[in-house]
Amino acid sequence: MKEIVFASANHNKQAEVRRIFGPEYCVMLPEDLGFTGNIPETHETVRENSEQKARFVWDLFGKPCFSDDTGLEVDALGGAPGVYSARYAGEPSNPARNIEKLLRELEGVPYEKRTARFRCVVSYIEKGDLTQFEGICEGHINFAPVEGGGFGYDPVFVADGYDCTLAELTMEEKNKISHRGKAMDALVCHLSQSRRR
Ligand code: IMP
Repeated sequence: MKEIVFASANHNKQAEVRRIFGPEYCVMLPEDLGFTGNIPETHETVRENSEQKARFVWDLFGKPCFSDDTGLEVDALGGAPGVYSARYAGEPSNPARNIEKLLRELEGVPYEKRTARFRCVVSYIEKGDLTQFEGICEGHINFAPVEGGGFGYDPVFVADGYDCTLAELTMEEKNKISHRGKAMDALVCHLSQSRRR
């Protein structure tokens, strides 16, 4: 099994990512290796934050590692919350309050104008070299959150071609169409190609 470290403390992301990597990989977390602090993300773009997280974990352990940074871009809000998605309603990060604020900001905006996308950048570092993969999931912001399931903004995000939110899909269904699923698939493909070389 190939060992790889996922630079994240988000258990929801970990579950999705482990499913994508499958049994060939041992996906470890910083906490499995004794690090329980915060991984910094202090930049103004998702791409830079993604790189920052991966570099931080590479510097800590010197093992092949990857990170994911995701932002929700809502067209009617000029691309907000974007890189500030996690703390949209202030610190500490609170998904229910983030959704409440998002729906408040979108009050009166009709469905066809509630277009949005998740943008995810995965950064992979091996031997100090960085490779990045982007995944995008286009959709709409619904008028009210659904109960249970998913995480973050999943309860209000309806992907294009679906009539339910991401929170109502199984993990397999979400992984097939999601920003993270697409970016991680590209990473897994890159890893299997470089193993064959
Ligand atoms: P980060 O990538 O952990 O910084 O996440 C940024 C924000 O987007 C957080 O509020 C997450 O909960 C949210 N988020 C990240 N990935 C997803 C997802 O797949 N679905 C819904 N929300 C997400």
